[in-house]
Amino acid sequence: MASKIRVLDEKTINQIAAGEVIESPASVVKELVDNSIDAGATKIVIQAQNSGRQLISVQDNGQGMGHDDALLCIERHATSKIRTLDDLWSLATMGFRGEALSSIASVSDFKLLTAEHVPGVEQPEGSLLQLSGGKIQLHKQLKCLAGTTIEVKSLFHNVPARRKFLKSPAKDASDIVKVVLQSALAHPEIAFELVLNHQREFFWQAATEQERIKDALGSDFFSELVPVEGSFEELFIHGFVAKPTFSRPTRSHQYLFVNRRPVVSLAVAQAVKEAYGSSLDPSRHPAFVLFVDIPPDAVDVNVHPQKREVRFSLEDRVKSGIVQAVSSALFSRHTQVEKPIERLAPAFLPMQEYIQQTPQKAYEPFIPTVVQNVSVFAVCQDYIFAAIDWPQQLEVPQELLQEGVLVVSAKRALARLVYDEAAKRKSSVQNLLVPVFIELSSDEAARLRILLPKLEDAGIHLSDFGKTSFLVQAIPSYLEASMVEDIVRSVLDEEVEDISRMLAKACKTQKRTHALTKDAAEHIIKKLIACDAPFICPAGDKIVTVVTPQELEKKFR
Ligand code: ADP
Ligand code: MG
Repeated sequence: MASKIRVLDEKTINQIAAGEVIESPASVVKELVDNSIDAGATKIVIQAQNSGRQLISVQDNGQGMGHDDALLCIERHATSKIRTLDDLWSLATMGFRGEALSSIASVSDFKLLTAEHVPGVEQPEGSLLQLSGGKIQLHKQLKCLAGTTIEVKSLFHNVPARRKFLKSPAKDASDIVKVVLQSALAHPEIAFELVLNHQREFFWQAATEQERIKDALGSDFFSELVPVEGSFEELFIHGFVAKPTFSRPTRSHQYLFVNRRPVVSLAVAQAVKEAYGSSLDPSRHPAFVLFVDIPPDAVDVNVHPQKREVRFSLEDRVKSGIVQAVSSALFSRHTQVEKPIERLAPAFLPMQEYIQQTPQKAYEPFIPTVVQNVSVFAVCQDYIFAAIDWPQQLEVPQELLQEGVLVVSAKRALARLVYDEAAKRKSSVQNLLVPVFIELSSDEAARLRILLPKLEDAGIHLSDFGKTSFLVQAIPSYLEASMVEDIVRSVLDEEVEDISRMLAKACKTQKRTHALTKDAAEHIIKKLIACDAPFICPAGDKIVTVVTPQELEKKFR
């Protein structure tokens, strides 16, 4: 009988490895940029077309490769960086498995142009190597600029299964920007240029750490930062943390580098948060750019190349060091941690249609306002007490037909209204007298630019205001202007592309800055009754309940 067991061929082995190392266009960019950094480049130019699906190219002026190395580098486990397993643990370079290039070449049309520096020669003898799906098509010598250029076209063209699992183009584009942004933050001494679809996204000259943070994350963000520095035996921490007023709903503004590698560490994120103590709302996350330098043998670096999560062998020491360094930065006498700054011009009144200008009085006479089938008795905080004559065609839950006073959750009702309008792309929109200014990081800006039409469909009208800044000019009329920045940020953070759902969620979590008037409450209820599903908000919670006389009696017992 013929043998069933077969040794996989080299091509298949590489494609399997590619599944581990190369999961998205951004991971290709990451590997190539890491190689350029390792090669001692002082300038790296990254280009991508069609979110990296069509083309990714990374050009550097690093040390380049000789003719033989150019051929060797695309072999699996070919690396100039480690010789033994021990080297893995004392790793100074970025990549270390010698798998990236062979993996990338196996799932794309791959071109390598490289030459070593020859003093006094501008275009030394170099090599051109071309592969398709891992097979060498061309290997020849030619004169070219010193350094290395790698071009990756038609990524995953021969692996349909992987192509299917690609994320959205918007997400891939912003991941590419994020990867370059992180490398650029970690290596301010290198100039970075990023070109997306022939348009220059940014060009950052070699700079100091501070200047690079300003370039990459915006001067708005930079001005919120407080410098951190501390050294604890073999551990050295420096960088910046944002004042508590610049907190974020997610961990999106946390940039951590361990020995200059961009990494994620829950332990560090928690330690930083702990340092803020009660100055930070527990549901918010601090923003920071922190560099931790530690002997390589004290970190368990990602053994899986895609996982940027690290663990520390001296985790408690690292944590206490961080808490100490960050809290003394935040709360030392020289650092002023101020109250939240209202970013909207005070002249602007949101929701003018609905909202009275002065805060609601503590006591209002008990005169119900009656319009058609809705009578509002009172509005306390976010609850509306009312009597409602349900329209006949509406299927009303039994509970609500009992005798008693109806209580409507205003937040949930708004969530329903905003959701329905946004989902039907029929948002009633209010123009903002004073547009809301939003400053983003470059990766967020790239993502937002792609999401602009979707946001506009949902009633949020934004316009470009410089590379990483935007102006919100109109919002759905049920929302307050003060909510909009957080909404836009959550849309960016949460990878949620169902914007209607995002808006609905925002309605429920935001604090309103003005009390709801009875007229506004009535308007909301009448709109609500006209919805298809007036009793359940988009997240599935009830919007209306009833307080019966029996329940009241019990309370008075
Ligand atoms: P690794 O980075 O883990 O060594 P790679 O597959 O990424 O594995 O690269 C293989 C080898 O090719 C590297 O060790 C390096 O010697 C060479 N190489 C890759 N990219 C460059 C570059 N941009 N400049 C110079 N040499 C490079
Ligand atoms: Mg590498």
